[in-house]
This record gives sequence, C-alpha cells and structure tokens, in this order.
Amino acid sequence: SRPKLVVANRKMHGNLSDNRQFMESLLRHTQQHAAHYAICPPHPYLYQAQQLLQGSHIAWGGQNMSRFERGAYTGSVSPLMLREFGCQYVIIGHSERRQRGHDNDESCGERFEAALNAGLTPILCIGETLDEYEQGETDLVVVRQLNPVISHVGIEAIAKGVIAYEPVWAIGTGKAATPQHAQAILSFIRGHIGLLNEAVAEVTTLLYGGSVNPSNAAQLLSMPDIDGGLIGGASLIAEDFIQICKIAN
Ligand code: 13P
Repeated sequence: SRPKLVVANRKMHGNLSDNRQFMESLLRHTQQHAAHYAICPPHPYLYQAQQLLQGSHIAWGGQNMSRFERGAYTGSVSPLMLREFGCQYVIIGHSERRQRGHDNDESCGERFEAALNAGLTPILCIGETLDEYEQGETDLVVVRQLNPVISHVGIEAIAKGVIAYEPVWAIGTGKAATPQHAQAILSFIRGHIGLLNEAVAEVTTLLYGGSVNPSNAAQLLSMPDIDGGLIGGASLIAEDFIQICKIAN
C-alpha cells in the first residue's frame, strides 16, 4: 500500500552535460511508472533540475539545508531557496555530514521541522557505524538518532517525512546490508514509531541506502518494510539507476 520511492543522492558528482543526459534518460525510461523517483544533485544544479524536470513525474531535492530561513550563514542554503527552485525533497543528516561534525541528532530535528515548515519532504538519514554494528548497538543508535526528531516535530509529523536507514559501513563500500538485516532494522524502526502511533508507522516511507545496485535491488526492495532506496554510486550511471527504478516499479 505504501508507494515505492527511489532517490538518487548524487553527492558531489556531475556537471551540466552529464546531469542533462542522466535526467533526460530517466524521464524517457520511467514514464507511466507507479513508483516515485527523485534526484538530489549538488545545489548549483537545482536550477537545471527544475528546468528539465518541471511538470514531469520526477521530483528533485537538495542534499542538505540550513534550519534558518535567512541570515548571516555563509555557505548555507535555506529551505525557502530549495522551495524556490522547486525542490520537493531534502536529505537531512547524511552520515557523510554527521561524520564531519556538520550535523548532529539535535540539529537534524530542527532541520526536519524547518523542511516541513517550508513544504519540503525531509529524508532523514540514520544508521550505525561499523564499530557500533559490531558491538550490536544498531537498535540503540537508530533510536538515539530518531528520538530527538520525534520529540522535536511530534509523532504525527514523522509520516510527512521519509526515514532512510543507511548503515555507514554499507555506504560506498560495495557491501550492502543483507536484505534480512535491512528488513530487521527497518521493521524495528517502524515498530519504534508504532509504539507512539501505529497509524503513523503504517504510512511512513522507510528507505534503505548503502551500496544498492541493479543486482541486489530486487531482494532488498522486496522486503516488507523497505519502501525504496537511497542510491549513491549507482545513481551516477543512468542505466544502473534506471534499472533500479524498474525493479522498484
Ligand atoms: P552508495 O549507494 O554509494 O553506497 O551511497 C549510499 C548513500 O550514501 C546514499 O545517500
């Protein structure tokens, strides 16, 4: 009953001509699909995404955002700016930003809220490091990352966003989580939300991210609590990303 969502996190990759090829090819090959798709390019290319994707079935979004609407925050981009360039989505709290100290659990709550206030759909990234995984602390970590956001926005608002479980050890390593592990953690996350509000848990879109590729996507996306994927490396090759979209559809 939950529609599938596949999001390209293009990280700090791409250029005008490569982006154009990617988006045009994605538009051509995913027409009439029931699954939902979005592309998150680096901020300077949001205008290009708007020009190419406006009015189409493909959405776009930012990879990060300030919690402030405006002000003396050199180098930051505000939710209103993302909206002005037509973004529907914004990634919040990606581990590549958390690891460098740009994001933390508290500020993710504030940014999740700011995104909703601006009419954006936040995609909150959570997930454990390899060390935490080996210590068997995954449940603890995702709850620690999720709770400040829930207490900040209230449980009802959680369903207006998307939660992406991205184990840090699976990102860019070629070692995706097994479908069983990803399913277990996403089911745990849904259960945790369900403790507060079952209806919200039922409709909240949960994604898996971390080395998803055309060969492992079918198994991952067939799991009952995996509603789609957040795709890094495989979103840099149009054919690979389109293949994942077809699998999701
Ligand atoms: P990879 O697909 O390259 O592992 O990256 C996943 C990711 O970080 C998406 O946000």
